[in-house]
Amino acid sequence: MNRKTSFLSYRPKTVLNKSKRPDHWFWTRYSAYPYIGCQHGCEFCYCRERKYSPYEDPDDFAHVIKAKENAPDLLRKALSRLPVEPVFTGDYQPAERKFQLSRRMLAVCHDLGFPVFVLERSPLVLRDIDLLKAIDERAQAVVAFSVLAAPGSPSYSRVCQIEQLAPPAEKRFAAMQEFAAAGILTGACFMPVLPGLCDDDANLENVVRWTAEHGGKFILVGGLTLSDQQRTYFFKVLEERFPDLIENYQRLYPPGSYASPSWNSRQVALRVKELCQQYGISDRMPRPVIPGDKRTLNKRIVEALANECYWMELRGEPNQRVWAYRKAAWAIEDTAQDLRLIYRTMGRKGLESIENVGPRLAEVVEDLLKRLN
Ligand code: SF4
Repeated sequence: MNRKTSFLSYRPKTVLNKSKRPDHWFWTRYSAYPYIGCQHGCEFCYCRERKYSPYEDPDDFAHVIKAKENAPDLLRKALSRLPVEPVFTGDYQPAERKFQLSRRMLAVCHDLGFPVFVLERSPLVLRDIDLLKAIDERAQAVVAFSVLAAPGSPSYSRVCQIEQLAPPAEKRFAAMQEFAAAGILTGACFMPVLPGLCDDDANLENVVRWTAEHGGKFILVGGLTLSDQQRTYFFKVLEERFPDLIENYQRLYPPGSYASPSWNSRQVALRVKELCQQYGISDRMPRPVIPGDKRTLNKRIVEALANECYWMELRGEPNQRVWAYRKAAWAIEDTAQDLRLIYRTMGRKGLESIENVGPRLAEVVEDLLKRLN
């Protein structure tokens, strides 16, 4: 049954979420979204989880859209007091045609010189390519597209049914190509790789190939998580529309699990990494750094350590080693002084004196300093 969508405008007290430091996936430190609920209504969407969703009925998530009418003003007020770091923003579901809040929020980021990261399923984001180009000239803009399957993949039509209200992947790839042609960094977020639908080798290669052929420079890959009402909703959809998948999902996601304890996410990520190498793109998103940023080298070193962390996890290296790299990356992120200066005045001892770096990681950092300087 086609349910009618209703729109509610309201005035929240805040719109900006901030973290202590940028994350190691999208490199954003701030996030600000103009709407609650999403008309794309993907059946697996984690936003239906209780902690993200204010809806009692999980079906409302796709049909009752709440627009934060003062979001641009709140964003301006919040960002004008904060250090410049990338902002995860934008939401180009159909409601955006009506409210234009994403555009106004991008305009705020542009005015204040903040870089942005936009993750989309809709080519409507092309409407604001002028503004994104202007942001990219002043700071940096990255526009990524969520893609779970590419045309020609064995399960392509089934994946389309599972995200049936979103524009088809062909249109997302076409939009990716336009952003690439405009010189804006673009790529794909291949998340969640749905077990039994998206993790076959033909689809993995197809997604990587389509991304590379449409100017995408990276692919980020991640698995499905299921929790509380989102889990109940997803299993109900499987039962009603994809009954042949139920048994597999019950086995992969036993009661009480969040990520699947038995689906081999590492193997999938390793295969995507291999395919990315083959097609000349990356399985990590390049860190956007504002031109002229005095801490550019520090940030590049953090990026290299974070990438190594991710690849060590894929190789199954001991947790302790992964955490040593992660903590060193955080410590360097928090170091206000240029690492070059520390190294020039105190040598490797200076690097060792940074908290959580120590003698072994100092050697790694020294090597990166020489390589990236
Ligand atoms: S487009 Fe993104 S936010 Fe919207 S329903 Fe799909 S997964 Fe969720």
